Amino acid sequence: MERTHKSSEINEKLIGEKVSLVGWVDTIRVHGNVAFIDLRDRYGKVQAVISKKSSEDFEKVKNLTLESCISIKGTLNARPEGSENEKLTSGKVELKIEELKVYSLADNLPFEVNNEDVGEEIRLKYRYLDIRGEKLKNNLILRHKIINFIRNFLNEKDFLEIQTPILTKSSPEGARDYLVPSRVHQGKFYALPQSPQQYKQLLMVGGIERYFQIAPCFRDEDARADRCPGEFYQLDMEMSFMSQDEILNLTEDLMIKLVKEILPEKHFTKLPFPRITYDEAMEKYGRDNPDIRENKDDPNELGFCWIVDFPLFKEQKEEDFFHGAGERWGPSHHMFTMPKEEDFKYLNVEEAGKAKAYQHDLVLNGYEVGGGSIRIHDPVIQDKIFDLIGFTEVQKKEFDHMLKAFRYGAPPHGGIAPGIDRLIMVLLGEKSIREVIAFPKNRDARDLTMDAPSIVEAGQLKDVHIQLDLPKSKKDVPKE
Ligand code: ASP
Repeated sequence: MERTHKSSEINEKLIGEKVSLVGWVDTIRVHGNVAFIDLRDRYGKVQAVISKKSSEDFEKVKNLTLESCISIKGTLNARPEGSENEKLTSGKVELKIEELKVYSLADNLPFEVNNEDVGEEIRLKYRYLDIRGEKLKNNLILRHKIINFIRNFLNEKDFLEIQTPILTKSSPEGARDYLVPSRVHQGKFYALPQSPQQYKQLLMVGGIERYFQIAPCFRDEDARADRCPGEFYQLDMEMSFMSQDEILNLTEDLMIKLVKEILPEKHFTKLPFPRITYDEAMEKYGRDNPDIRENKDDPNELGFCWIVDFPLFKEQKEEDFFHGAGERWGPSHHMFTMPKEEDFKYLNVEEAGKAKAYQHDLVLNGYEVGGGSIRIHDPVIQDKIFDLIGFTEVQKKEFDHMLKAFRYGAPPHGGIAPGIDRLIMVLLGEKSIREVIAFPKNRDARDLTMDAPSIVEAGQLKDVHIQLDLPKSKKDVPKE
């Protein structure tokens, strides 16, 4: 592929040189025998000019459409005086096209790239065109930079990045699981992980000491402004031999350095991040995700705080009985969270509501952007928690691998999992989480770009031993 420069490298220092550029047709203006093209690549734009006299390719320009993908070769000249564009790094020059090659001629577009008034459904359907626009492209660049920063920071601190299974077993984070039928094991299902919670704890038992992963998590729940239905990414972290304070300090250090490096225009309401107990937060703000900003109209203010000392349990209503366990108490974070030692005395059905936990939430501008806890590593306490949330022996068996692992030398451990999408949404001041995700699901959990979920062939269902039993109105018959 011939490409001598990116558009951001084109400036007046190159006047007189021959260059070859690639990209998309951002604008075309034909004035008689002269035509101007703004060529756009990921890095910016360059103006190019072609005249009938000087190039046989002039005819091609006449047929060119917006957003066609092309390459142009030619000499860089100074723009005529008065026609410079101060806003572009290439604004003092223009490329005199000597050769033009069309890689791919674009059809009529469903919407104009960079037009902000286009409905979201259509933007999602043609997401690749939306991604060509400045806003989404810049958000994806920032997302990359943030994740890259996180990786480097944690690498420096001795963390290992480890991938955990996607086809796994139901994990108890409190939402509905996505199930994947097994072809080989008839009638059995994998579940997509709601988070790698159990694996990361098992990695600690495995002696890894410091783990992280940019982990995809799958939860079958309804859309909210700050969460896409279906799937999201977490910065999943787990550490052994660290106190809760040390875990919070490390996470806080990461957040502060990340903001200073990637978003230097932002400033913090308060440093260090205030640590507020759950009881104080409820009393002072009436919520456990307070917005502590002093000036909520300042788009560059970041109000981080920690909420700690959550109740270990919350009282359940019948409809949200945990994993079908029919008891009064459900875990307020998850069932692997360590109770405060001084509250062990409350671990009985009557008093469980008084027990506090080593749970911590990271809150930013009124959004919970991460939660975690010190974990139980003693099988006796873990078993007690299972009893209190009303697990039957059969249900306990589902988590036998955890109890067993804790009997082979489990280190004290804990962690946290900031939600990557939500954190970036709040850091960038975006209103919708979909603005920081390349291919987000829409509100009713559909991928409009690929048109998923979709009907599958009858043979595929047969392979996995599934027969549909749909309500009458929904009887879309699988394809034969
Ligand atoms: N697995 C937890 C969650 O997804 C986070 C954690 O406890 O580290 O909320």
